[in-house]
Amino acid sequence: DLQRTSCNVAVLGATGSIGTATLDVLKHLQATDSQCDWRLWAASGHTNVDKLARELVAMGSPDTRLVMSEPEAAACWQSAHAERDSEPKHQVLTGPDALVKVASEPAVDTVVAAIVGRAGLESTLAAIEHGKRVALANKETLVVAGSLVAESLNEGRKSASGAEILPVDSEHSAIFQCIASHPSAVKKLILTASGGPFREATVQQMRDATPESALAHPTWDMGRKISIDSATMMNKALEIIEARWLFDLPAEAIEVVVHPQSIIHSMVEFTDGSVIAQLSPPDMRMPIQLALTHPRRLPGIAPSLDRAQRWDLQLMPADLERFPALRLGFEVARVGGTAGAVVNAANECAVALFLDGQIRFTDIAQVCQTVLNHHNFESTPTLSRLLELDRWARDEAQRCCAAST
Ligand code: NAD
Ligand code: MG
Repeated sequence: DLQRTSCNVAVLGATGSIGTATLDVLKHLQATDSQCDWRLWAASGHTNVDKLARELVAMGSPDTRLVMSEPEAAACWQSAHAERDSEPKHQVLTGPDALVKVASEPAVDTVVAAIVGRAGLESTLAAIEHGKRVALANKETLVVAGSLVAESLNEGRKSASGAEILPVDSEHSAIFQCIASHPSAVKKLILTASGGPFREATVQQMRDATPESALAHPTWDMGRKISIDSATMMNKALEIIEARWLFDLPAEAIEVVVHPQSIIHSMVEFTDGSVIAQLSPPDMRMPIQLALTHPRRLPGIAPSLDRAQRWDLQLMPADLERFPALRLGFEVARVGGTAGAVVNAANECAVALFLDGQIRFTDIAQVCQTVLNHHNFESTPTLSRLLELDRWARDEAQRCCAAST
């Protein structure tokens, strides 16, 4: 078939919640897409090589390169694996530069950026610099270095490199879909938030929250870090900043409304007052697939909305008093510069301390605000400056927590 194309995909963070959902989507596309050969060119895990290798065997993907950021984990796996010679031999890439190398590889067409946190930054930037389509789940990259990403995309447009970001985050995928109708007549982006497990909790209840109760998200099944972010609503704060860079709009044009059912994934208000929303069941495989196949829309694997049941879709204002992280999100989106890198690093550190039982749930947003207040703001930082501040903010967050307990 002359019409048939192919697409080599590198899934970075393949062992996580988004990564696993992406492998599901790829299997589905391999089985059903008559126009394109979907090939899993590489898949990365951090330490859990075994799980990744088993996934690839299950997918019938013997040629997929395995990327392990920890050489010890890879060496350990390779020696165990050498004894089981019935299994296919994957090429294994290791070391701190392996992710960047894969993301820059000429043979790769699409990079799925599904690593959690600042750890995904360099590989995501490399993918954009090398003209890839980036299916972006790793919102922290935009929070830390949104202006550099925007710059790099601009360069890519000038040289027609093909670099583009397709949002995987469900809210941003929704906005991307809604905006397409009249991109130059946008008035407001309205991000929906489930409100997380503490949507109706009092401040006192949140002070006493345990990691277990904070991890129990009502509508989404996600990695640990983003689950805690959802509970503090820092996730929505990061998404405000993500939206600011993805859609090049000021913080003033972004709103948050609480929508507990997670069916309306976000909305766009246009200049004439008309609001367009995107609805689908809460299943990340929908936005992942669209990010891979856009501009094509293909049959998906997620079940569709059940219209035989009564629909109760609620929308309510967000409470910036009980969820101070939200206020921080608007502030960072407004000032830009070094603020995102600092708040992101403080948050990553505070979330780890909370999960480790060392600080209270309500300390997380407090620590982020304090570290932001302590830093010397710069409006046009370089990448190396941002990385330096990332390390400083983690240390500063540790110091704040040690001082307050
Ligand atoms: P997860 O914890 O389930 O998976 C994280 C992945 O990153 C794993 O594959 C892990 O091996 C890898 N990783 C972790 N630390 C690493 C490091 N230092 N170096 C290299 N690899 C590392 O997380 P997740 O829920 O899949 O989230 C991934 C990203 O997607 C996050 O940025 C999150 O905000 C975003 N996101 C997730 C969802 C969701 O439904 N889970 C929705 C929207 C956006
Ligand atoms: Mg989201």
